[in-house]
Amino acid sequence: MSNSRMLLERTSTVGFIGLGAMGNHMFNNLVTSAAKSCSQFKSFAIFDVSENAMNREIQRHKTEHPLVPILKCSSPAEVATKASYIISMVPTSTHVQDVYTGENGVMSALKELDQEARAQTLCLDQSTIEQSASKAVALKMREVGADMMDAPVSGGVVGARDATLAIMVGGDEGSFERALPVLSPMARKVTHCGDLGTGLAAKISNNLLLGITMLGLSEATLLGRSLGVKPQVLADIINNSTGRCWSSETNHPDPAVKVGAASPPAHRNYEGGFVTKLAHKDLGLAVKAAEGAHVPLELGKRCEEVFKPLARGEEWANRDFSGVFQALSDLRAHAGPPQAAL
Ligand code: NAD
Repeated sequence: MSNSRMLLERTSTVGFIGLGAMGNHMFNNLVTSAAKSCSQFKSFAIFDVSENAMNREIQRHKTEHPLVPILKCSSPAEVATKASYIISMVPTSTHVQDVYTGENGVMSALKELDQEARAQTLCLDQSTIEQSASKAVALKMREVGADMMDAPVSGGVVGARDATLAIMVGGDEGSFERALPVLSPMARKVTHCGDLGTGLAAKISNNLLLGITMLGLSEATLLGRSLGVKPQVLADIINNSTGRCWSSETNHPDPAVKVGAASPPAHRNYEGGFVTKLAHKDLGLAVKAAEGAHVPLELGKRCEEVFKPLARGEEWANRDFSGVFQALSDLRAHAGPPQAAL
């Protein structure tokens, strides 16, 4: 069904821009939902700067969902001419600006459409980026008669794959109601957080805490081990005590510890999961936002500094952020006393 000349009904077409680690799964869940006829959306228009990423999706759905039309586009502008709902899932603010306000961006196409088509256009940016950059792009979209919301996600690649993401949405109440049918097939929970930018405020605040709790757990685990308690005993105690958190219950950083049914990245040499460079990017967003809002981030700033060299070095950048435990262990091995208790 996929070809470049197919005619799509714009109001029942979803555009998806950015088919990477998260986006490819999120897109797949939308297509699956359309194929089961549990969605008002009938067709899709996709774009990624990576030709491979687009071809992979076209190939996949040619076999899995041959009756759902998927159009490969040559730019975000082409997506905007085909789809009145546009989702973007790209790495940073610069990419989001490129997609919406750059040359051949969504806005350039909207300017050529009639007023009704513009008013029908709802853009949902799901990337984790600076709140100020997101709001600026959204206001530009409003200037041309379309609407835009920030709708970042939590739940990682597994949540994206299993359609169990938590989606935090900022923008108009009316637009939120319109956004729900397109966001729901990707999520366990979709929350309207308030005005433009509040979805990102929630996401950045959550990830600040995530970085701090992972670092805190890593330090506590290393200390407990070094003072003689067995890793599994300590982990079980923490998980039945006041130190319990998502990192301790689900994503424990110590490879010697078993938690829950699934094996965390620590059991796979920290491969996969939430990569350190993205975890650090989010900590950086929190530090910058806190400076602008005059919020003192005593722990947050220190946490960002600890993750920074890992995010920039080859060894850890593309491995799960729980690797901070291993990096601290390596530091201790080089600087500390003999590891008799380990
Ligand atoms: P990724 O790098 O795997 O994928 C990004 C995709 O965007 C790539 O396919 C890339 O080719 C494409 N892209 C880049 N610039 C583009 C442009 N100008 N136009 C079109 N496509 C473009 O990143 P990801 O892990 O999917 O993360 C995407 C966003 O989601 C980031 O903001 C990240 O912080 C956030 N996020 C990631 C996770 C995670 O666990 N990976 C979890 C929650 C949120």
